[in-house]
Amino acid sequence: MNNLITSKTKLISLLGHPVMHSLSPQIHNTAFQCLNLNYVYLVFDIIQEDLEVVVTGMKAIGARGFNVTMPYKKDIIPYLNEISNEARLIGTVNTVVNQGGHLIGYNTDGKGYIQSLAEEGVSIINKCIVIIGAGGAASSIAIQTALEGANEIIILNRTLEKAENIIDIIRKNIFSCKAEAEELNDKNLKKAMGKSDILINCTSIGMYPNEDKSIIGDESIMPPDLVVSDLIYKPYKTKLLKLAEKRGCKCINGLGMLLWQGAFAFKLWTGKEMPVDFIKDLLKKSF
Ligand code: NAP
Repeated sequence: MNNLITSKTKLISLLGHPVMHSLSPQIHNTAFQCLNLNYVYLVFDIIQEDLEVVVTGMKAIGARGFNVTMPYKKDIIPYLNEISNEARLIGTVNTVVNQGGHLIGYNTDGKGYIQSLAEEGVSIINKCIVIIGAGGAASSIAIQTALEGANEIIILNRTLEKAENIIDIIRKNIFSCKAEAEELNDKNLKKAMGKSDILINCTSIGMYPNEDKSIIGDESIMPPDLVVSDLIYKPYKTKLLKLAEKRGCKCINGLGMLLWQGAFAFKLWTGKEMPVDFIKDLLKKSF
């Protein structure tokens, strides 16, 4: 492994606010070192007013690209030359590639999520997927799974309008997938469980330090053949996953999504496969 910065080192970065909690520098710099690639990944905590000038600067210095995180995933779009189909539908960008001054935006969150299921042997093709939550993560996952062959998406959210907005995009653009929005309550959850193959918690309920909370209180509504997935990875096993495990469900946490959305971005910048298993083991040890 070699991490020497030279005059040829290419810059990749993360733009957002706040960003100091991010694991992305650890993930990408470890991957660069493992594969002996002459790149460095740095984090920049920037204010809204500076976004345009920072993007212009990234182009001017010939940075290879950057990740974008909250709160700039939408705001970045006017400064890009092109965006991918999934980023256009989702309405947000998390990865930008600089092709000789031409900035192309992608959203790798949904693809990363689907790959995190695939590595656990779970396919989304022809499945009915129930998503709890309708924020940024839910939107990426709902639209990407619809694009990649899910049969039906049901989104339950506290604020119904946000779920309806995502469902509207699917209905108008992805005709192969049925889509439904419901208010999040016990009755609707129970009804959705009746036909669900995969349940995804896309809320922050159960995340550290509120580890005693679960978006589903009564585990008996989860059938044993349900795949239960929680985007949270801290704690490593949320209360929802513990309850689902008691029911015999297959359980998947959010660490795979974190790594695979990064791995897709890594491939876009470097053309190489990220050594995901090696990095996953390192991260698991740090939790
Ligand atoms: P977000 O845009 O803020 O959306 C949060 C969602 O949670 C909203 O739908 C919100 O409902 C719902 N919610 C929040 N508090 C709630 C409560 N008390 N009761 C019911 N619903 C509640 O957040 P996000 O970016 O989508 O992230 C969601 C979760 O996914 C977070 O835990 C985040 O850490 C995780 N995540 C993980 C990864 C990964 O790589 N593993 C990537 C992205 C996100 P309202 O619409 O009604 O406010």
